[in-house]
Amino acid sequence: MESVVKANIEIIRSAIAGAALRAGRKVSDVRLMAVTKTVDDDRIMEAIEAGIDIIGESYVQEAKRKIEKMGRSIEWHMIGHLQSNKAKYAVKLFDMIHSVNRLDLAVELDRRAGAADLATKILIEVNISGEKTKSGVPYEEAMRLVKDISSLDNLSIQGLMTMAPWFDNPEDARPYFKALRELRDRIVEENINRVEMLELSMGMSGDYEVAVEEGATIVRVGRSIFGERLF
Ligand SMILES: *Cc1c(COP(=O)(O)O)cnc(C)c1O
Repeated sequence: MESVVKANIEIIRSAIAGAALRAGRKVSDVRLMAVTKTVDDDRIMEAIEAGIDIIGESYVQEAKRKIEKMGRSIEWHMIGHLQSNKAKYAVKLFDMIHSVNRLDLAVELDRRAGAADLATKILIEVNISGEKTKSGVPYEEAMRLVKDISSLDNLSIQGLMTMAPWFDNPEDARPYFKALRELRDRIVEENINRVEMLELSMGMSGDYEVAVEEGATIVRVGRSIFGERLF
């Protein structure tokens, strides 16, 4: 019997292709991340066998165990809240950190990356909606944070990340994705030294098609691949 995980991934890939087509974008400019917090190893392996090449994890400890087991033939990205005291492990474990939302965290990541002789790729997480339950730098402070972090030699800013509020109708998330894209465009116009705006990490199970239409380069999908999380 074909794996449910594989079948789900195929459905999502074709939905992404449809959204890219509608927006006049190249399908190859959008990458599908499988979000695997709390997902067991067998199903993660099924996703990798189905061609997934970016795994998103939210907890450093959980990721460390999985990376040691499953190896580095795929990319591992950190998408969860990161405490400064985990920075030392994070720079060694992850190919990209999507959740950099404050200067003190960036300073610690830079210090640890430098000590390990690494150039760590990061995204700046922006709280577009201003909801208190969401992490991320407030929208109005994002430009300042990008400029401040740009001077840290061992970090490489690759783009922006956001989470839209939850809506029944994914269409309602569109203004938040559009706002992140427009912020990206304003940052590009500032021509900040060493800052690249290649990536827009946005869109989850409920709203990834709209995110692709609005310019997402990485969509982060968990439940639509693996089913509801049990905890
Ligand atoms: C859990 C999580 C996702 C995936 O959410 P789903 O609704 O399961 O697709 C995406 N991004 C972040 C930051 C997450 O924590």
